[in-house]
Amino acid sequence: MIPIAEPSLEGRELEYVTDCIQSGWVSSLGEYVKRFEQGFAAYCGVRYGVATHNGTVALHQALAALGIGPGDEVILPTLTFVATANAVVYTGATPVFVDSEPHTWNIDPEAVTQAITPRTRAIIAVHLYGHPADMDSLRALADQHGLTLIEDAAEAHGARYRGRRVGSLSDVAIFSFFGNKIITTGEGGMVLTDDSELAERCFFLENQARHKENPYWHPEIGYNYRMTNLQAALGVAQLERIEELIAVRVRNAAYYGRRLTDIAGLNPPPRAQWAENVYWMYTVLVEDEYGMDRDTLMARLRQRGIDTRPAFYPIHTLPMYHQDQCFPVAEELGRKGLNLPSGATLTPEQVNLVCDVLAEMSQPGG
Ligand SMILES: *Cc1c(COP(=O)(O)O)cnc(C)c1O
Repeated sequence: MIPIAEPSLEGRELEYVTDCIQSGWVSSLGEYVKRFEQGFAAYCGVRYGVATHNGTVALHQALAALGIGPGDEVILPTLTFVATANAVVYTGATPVFVDSEPHTWNIDPEAVTQAITPRTRAIIAVHLYGHPADMDSLRALADQHGLTLIEDAAEAHGARYRGRRVGSLSDVAIFSFFGNKIITTGEGGMVLTDDSELAERCFFLENQARHKENPYWHPEIGYNYRMTNLQAALGVAQLERIEELIAVRVRNAAYYGRRLTDIAGLNPPPRAQWAENVYWMYTVLVEDEYGMDRDTLMARLRQRGIDTRPAFYPIHTLPMYHQDQCFPVAEELGRKGLNLPSGATLTPEQVNLVCDVLAEMSQPGG
């Protein structure tokens, strides 16, 4: 089976995790946590990093630290992983969904303008599948309306927008280090910000709102969202290899792109001229011309030992967020999008094999 994504753990991962176990520093009190926070923040060009247990709680705690709560509205794209909306709901605020742009698949600044109300507090840009959102337009909108701009960069470690790394393009950014992300800590996440007070507030909230000098004094309700030293040890080792891990995905995307030009009905992902995509997922659109719909193609690929995933269901189509409003771009991408094998261990031979099968199946009777 060619997997959709597998982590590559061939650097110093084992050595650093072993070091945690041998030294006994397995909880969140340990040197690797600080090293990972500082190293990843520096990599992204941001001052402060606060490591968390996963990407979802990173977003929850960032929103909570901003004081977003009941009565507030937060604008986000409907085409994203469900966690982006769930984190908003955890705070008691209301997620407001908007459509995506066809040429980036990301949140449409024009649609954001339409969605702003007196209750709007923040905009969350998601860099979907590794392609940065149009951050300058969103920054201008946020400034004009006094809103906080947040990046959900869970899928885009190392991607660049006009030469600048994602994570450094907003007031506060979050990342995920789940097993299939660009770099992994198993489960894990981080909040990045240049705002020292906000970083401190995130740290306070994720530590049960524990008083600095008085460890059992808690002036408000906090959370235990800390990252363990074991997770961070993996993260430090992965961060040493981040350029290599991104290069594999970018190389494979180039191979896919070349082969797909010969297969009618499979459209490659977009790439804005200002974007450096890290291709967390290489996602194609299965058009009618291909001769088979997306779900049939997925099932046929599975029979041939090729693991794929559908694009996300736009969140407004899920039962708990159901809304009758139509978001045509997101709905089309959700219906036609197919994530091809994209992991850090995928070889050019495997990419070729996947493309051979895709080409063969597109033939009449194939
Ligand atoms: C993976 C992901 C998250 C959540 O990260 P976890 O670490 O799985 O909690 C949030 N947003 C997006 C866009 C993601 O892809």
